Amino acid sequence: MCRPITIKPGAKVDLADIDPRRIDGDWDKDSAYEQIERNTEQSRELAYRLYAENRRSVLIVLQGMDTAGKDGTIRVVLTGINPQSCQIVAFKQPSTEERDHDFLWRIHKAVPRRGNIGIFNRSHYEDVLVVRVHNLVPKSEWKTRYRRINEFEELLVEGRMTLVKCFLHISKEEQRERLQARLDNPDKRWKFSKADLEERKLWDDYQDAYRVAVESCNTKHAPWYIIPSDRKWYRNLVVSQLLLDTLKQMDPQIPDAEEGLEGIVVE
Ligand code: AMP
Ligand code: MG
Repeated sequence: MCRPITIKPGAKVDLADIDPRRIDGDWDKDSAYEQIERNTEQSRELAYRLYAENRRSVLIVLQGMDTAGKDGTIRVVLTGINPQSCQIVAFKQPSTEERDHDFLWRIHKAVPRRGNIGIFNRSHYEDVLVVRVHNLVPKSEWKTRYRRINEFEELLVEGRMTLVKCFLHISKEEQRERLQARLDNPDKRWKFSKADLEERKLWDDYQDAYRVAVESCNTKHAPWYIIPSDRKWYRNLVVSQLLLDTLKQMDPQIPDAEEGLEGIVVE
């Protein structure tokens, strides 16, 4: 089995104590990708039923430092699932219009509709991460957001959405290697921005902001999962397993057909 790391609601989290290279179970890259393929086959079938059932939805929230692998995870975990039942949204710096509303406005509009699996590449958590680290709004304002997030997520869950919040946990050294790889490979350079280096200097502040976000918003209705992510194949395996386990637990059902369809022949 491969499992993400979970924390009891209300408990403290020391991210420095969680090894980003940790592996649960006897996995290597090849066996991981074989398992991911098996998982996808089952998830595809369950996602089909979720779509047919049209009652509930799943929202996977991906957060992590630059280069933690949000894009790669989406590519691997959703490949093979009917695109029509997936909604992928990446959150960038808010537009003027978005900024002119409360921080959850753009988020709520983007949640998956019933029957769908949604993935957030960054999320409302940026509003207590980058915003906190850079003091983009006064402290008195971001301080209240943890509570607002918990209330918002409760609203979603009561509306029959299952939230799967993943923190892709990488080490500072791994980030250095991945940023350097982006610089060294002309085909990857587009992903690099000089601002990434400025953000990297704030590594400790970000880790602290992540710690507080995970601690404050790790609720029973919407728990956080910490994914050891220094090895890409293991990160992909854990998230693919999480999606499959979530769908299995939901056990979506194909709805009953209209009555009286037996024996009808289409002419
Ligand atoms: P990327 O994910 O590399 O495309 O970068 C998106 C950028 O948008 C990151 O630097 C985020 O920190 C930033 N971003 C996302 N949401 C917010 C937000 N609510 N406020 C400020 N910056 C944000
Ligand atoms: Mg970036």
